[in-house]
Amino acid sequence: MTNTDTADIAGTVAQVAALARAGSELVRITVDRAEAAAAVPHIRDQLAARGVNVPLIGDFHYIGHTLLSEHPACAEALAKYRINPGNVGFGAKKDRQFAQIIEIAARNGKAVRIGGNWGSLDGELLTRLMDENANSSAPRDAREVTREALIRSVLLSAARAEELGLPREKIILSAKVSAVQDLIAVYAELGRRADYALHLGLTEAGMGSKGIVASSAALGVLLQQGVGDTIRVSLTPEPGGDRTTEVKVAQEILQTMGFRTFVPLVAACPGCGRTTSTVFQELARDVQTHIGARMPEWKKLYPGVETLNVAVMGCIVNGPGESKHADIGISLPGTGEAPTAPVFVDGKKVATLRGPTLVDDFKAMVEDYVARRFGAGERDAAE
Ligand code: SF4
Repeated sequence: MTNTDTADIAGTVAQVAALARAGSELVRITVDRAEAAAAVPHIRDQLAARGVNVPLIGDFHYIGHTLLSEHPACAEALAKYRINPGNVGFGAKKDRQFAQIIEIAARNGKAVRIGGNWGSLDGELLTRLMDENANSSAPRDAREVTREALIRSVLLSAARAEELGLPREKIILSAKVSAVQDLIAVYAELGRRADYALHLGLTEAGMGSKGIVASSAALGVLLQQGVGDTIRVSLTPEPGGDRTTEVKVAQEILQTMGFRTFVPLVAACPGCGRTTSTVFQELARDVQTHIGARMPEWKKLYPGVETLNVAVMGCIVNGPGESKHADIGISLPGTGEAPTAPVFVDGKKVATLRGPTLVDDFKAMVEDYVARRFGAGERDAAE
């Protein structure tokens, strides 16, 4: 999701393009006022002119019905509308405003994500469930009742959307909470009760490693259970930080779990007392950086290159073994070992590197391997 002001067309186009380049397959933008809604079709057009066709999702709160009604070009330019049943309207207006959004989506053939959130739960529904719970013979824990309110809120809204004419396949549900165990419980239950597409995400995950670890733990468990169709990792960026980190983390979750492949993996040992020089860390970093820098071109030239596995290991203990399992791997000399680095390609030792050009020599071997294995000549030979 972008964090630009959507009314800032140039800024939003640049950030959507950066997210798409990083691999985002859907990008959500905030549509919070008339100026933002008016900007959306221009953003879509400018992205198309740059060849960026990533679907845009509009994030609406409180006045989505008004914005979508008064800005038909915005309603048309978006691929999906995200609404929150907790703030689509209040009291008598709620049903009418919800219906207005759904009817616009159905008329335009758009999808709608009904996204509940722990922090903005449907207050009327929660109060009713809390009252029922208080009057029951075996009252449940308040946290359980809150989870139930979140689940019911999105399911009731989805059923209502279908009654209003939105096809089931155009409905996506999410029920985001900020605690890992709550998220797992809520989504596992949603997955049991209904077969709508589910969008996963831990909301307010936080900054840095805390946000990454919490999101990975929650999403990993759910994905392993077969729950979830799209994911988002919500990270609070450092001031001026790179928004695309969210995309990289989401890709790494999917790739490390073996569901998708996006970029070549570099397996590197953590290093220990047997690696007394910094050559090992420098090589691991340089190889990772080299692959990242070469990927835009490699992707065009070498289809399938994202499945490449490279190993950079620190010494003889696990180095040769791990390197043999990789497509191409190098085992550096640890303390007291001969100052040479055997290189393994497809499980066989093919060279021994040494001296000051070792890093560049290995990068050249990786480049050569990629061209041979994923290049047109190799594919033609295989066909
Ligand atoms: S492979 Fe060698 S250097 Fe790397 S962690 Fe294992 S023992 Fe240490």
